[in-house]
This record gives sequence, C-alpha cells and structure tokens, in this order.
Amino acid sequence: MQPVYIGLGSNLTGAMGEPVEQLKQALETLATHSQITLVNLSSNYRTKAIGPGAQPDYINAAALIETQLDPLDLLDQLQFIEQQHDRERGIRWGARTLDLDMLMYGNLTINTPRLTIPHPRIADRAFVLAPLLDLNPDLSLPDGQSVAKLLANCPEQGIFRL
Ligand code: ATP
Ligand code: MG
Ligand code: MG
Repeated sequence: MQPVYIGLGSNLTGAMGEPVEQLKQALETLATHSQITLVNLSSNYRTKAIGPGAQPDYINAAALIETQLDPLDLLDQLQFIEQQHDRERGIRWGARTLDLDMLMYGNLTINTPRLTIPHPRIADRAFVLAPLLDLNPDLSLPDGQSVAKLLANCPEQGIFRL
C-alpha cells in the first residue's frame, strides 16, 4: 500500500451541488472505493482563483489515501470521479466543478506525458501546501524540500481556512 496525497478543488456549482458539497461527495466516493482507503482529510480552505479571468473563489482541500492501484490506474479513477461531477476541460485553469490532482504518490517521481508526480506546481501553490500541511506537518517532497518551508516562502495568496 502506498500513501498518496490528493488535492481537491471546486469553484462551480454542478448537479452534485455547491463546491463544498462536491468535495464531500468526491471524498465519499474515494472512501467507498474498493481499492482505496481514505486515511485523513485536511480542513477546507476558501481560496482566491489564480486561473484566467474573473472566477469564483475555490474550495480546496487535500486527502491522504492508501491504495494498491498503480499511479496511472489511480489517475483513471480520479478522472472518472471528475467525469461523474461533469468536469469540463475548456480554458486551461478555467473554473471547474471538481479537480482531483495527484500531489504525491509515496516517494515516487514520475515524468510521463499523462502523469507528473509530484504534481509539478505544488511548490508555489499555497492552496495546495496549506492543506498538505494539515495532513502531515513534517511532510517533504521526494527531493527533500519541506512543505512547511515552501508554504512559508509562498507569497500571500488569499487562502482562508474554513
Ligand atoms: P494543474 O495541473 O495546473 O493543477 P488542472 O488540474 O486544471 O491544472 P487538468 O485539466 O485537471 O489540469 O489536467 C490536465 C492533465 O494533467 C490531465 O489530463 C492529466 O493527464 C495531467 N496530469 C499530469 N500530472 C497529473 C497529476 N499529478 N495529477 C492529475 N493530473 C495530472
Ligand atoms: Mg489542478
Ligand atoms: Mg487536475
């Protein structure tokens, strides 16, 4: 079993409800998946969108799971859950009903066209680092960088713990 950190985000209401509800539903789906164990959850955060144009604020969180699924099979499952939430991919970093990103998979480093682990933009995203720190205050990236130090070095990004 590998410990895997998942980043969750939503800033659009969809058929499954408002952003907080969408995150709740997605976590429920992960928790009941036969090959996934949900170990721990961060707080929810209200965060300012960093994508293009005017967008509603996001709700972000992170989850620690354990799974026997290999990284690409897990990515398939995450994308399947996004589809269940009517995720549409239009403009890059546009508003979305649900985003499930694989932040870390054990201590693996993966660089393939479909999957990069750790997630390539962890280090400069306070909305990812703060929830990760809730889950593990001593967490480091596979290259040894401390998540706490990365967060301390992030410019203020308007994130608010709910
Ligand atoms: P960002 O990656 O900057 O957070 P995004 O989450 O909006 O942007 P998506 O549209 O959700 O991007 O995903 C685009 C593609 O990224 C996916 O089709 C997937 O193949 C690829 N991808 C690469 N690495 C990862 C990862 N660690 N987690 C999730 N998707 C990834
Ligand atoms: Mg993302
Ligand atoms: Mg994504």
